[in-house]
Amino acid sequence: MEPTPEFKTILPESLVPVTDIDLRSLSEIYDETDIYLSIYMKSAGRSELDSSRSFISSRFRAMEKSLPSDLREPFASAISLVEEAVGSQPWKGERSRVIFACGPLSFLHVYRLGLEVEPLVVLDTSPFLLPLARLRDDYEDYGLLLLDSQESRLFTIRSHILQEEGRSSIDLMNKHKKGGWSQMRFNRLRKGAIKSFLGEVAEDVMGLERVSSMRGLVIAGPGDAKSQLVEMLPPQMKDKVMGMLDVPMGTAPAELMKMGDQVALEKERSLSQKTAADLRSAVLKGQLSAYGTDQVRDALMQGRVNSLVLLNDFVIPGWICEKCQHFQEGRQPESCPHCGGRTSRINVLEELYELAQRTGAQVEVVHEDEFLQSLGGVGAILRY
Ligand SMILES: [Zn+2]
Repeated sequence: MEPTPEFKTILPESLVPVTDIDLRSLSEIYDETDIYLSIYMKSAGRSELDSSRSFISSRFRAMEKSLPSDLREPFASAISLVEEAVGSQPWKGERSRVIFACGPLSFLHVYRLGLEVEPLVVLDTSPFLLPLARLRDDYEDYGLLLLDSQESRLFTIRSHILQEEGRSSIDLMNKHKKGGWSQMRFNRLRKGAIKSFLGEVAEDVMGLERVSSMRGLVIAGPGDAKSQLVEMLPPQMKDKVMGMLDVPMGTAPAELMKMGDQVALEKERSLSQKTAADLRSAVLKGQLSAYGTDQVRDALMQGRVNSLVLLNDFVIPGWICEKCQHFQEGRQPESCPHCGGRTSRINVLEELYELAQRTGAQVEVVHEDEFLQSLGGVGAILRY
């Protein structure tokens, strides 16, 4: 399908969280010929940008040589379309750039990310999304709360982009310094004030927009205000707490983010291990599972897949028919045995991923798993 008019040009003016990229709409775009250029490049500084540019030019030259004559013109137009996006200076906090372009359709998407990507240049019948899928799986948005008994700061962290959502504090000393209170009374009042302060913070956290769609919450700060606060959260919020960090209030936000990312990544790893274990038990019991690329593809097409489970950095060589879109693992035939159409080479995992996006299946990228490897790098947990 061709991109809709409003989806033809996307050039955000600030760094983009990977969760804001419309992977589903991107997965619906394809053409019968290899006219979609996808570029993943590092862009954290001037020297990195220079080496990315020379890598990209050498890939362009190699691709030009191998192109059939009817694709040279579209390829040249894609190259001139991306020229500015590839060459422009990095923004503050930028680590990488993802560019999708199609010359004949004047289609251009440029995403600047705060995350790192592995360099890649691909010419295909559709935008190449697998590296973004991995990032999306590793970097879901999460909240980070820094607090002690009298001050709190609430942040959201989206793909390495930190934003302060709000802060609050109480002044315990001022509030209670007047009057000749006994130490006991003072302590009691102080305790009460802290409790009501933490109650307000808990409400702020629950009011955080998108919190239900976020991976979770990291709670940081000195002392035991952290655990006191967790006790005050309703059960569904308590379940969202991914970890606690014992750090001073003065910790720099960049440092907080680094530690928070670590907690979030560990959480993601344990979730994906759980999915891999669920798949293993489903396969071993012979229940609601599919494995092998043909079986998984068919299940996706029938909309039966609950979770598609992919092994990270895995390549399954195969081919796709440019005409009827049939794809499968194995050696590329001269022409499609179903319709006689022209074929091109693909990584089957990319096509399975796009199918999952189109059919609303969840995708889990697993980093290491012997069983999944023994299944050939891909499996699916089925709905029915
Ligand atoms: Zn075909």
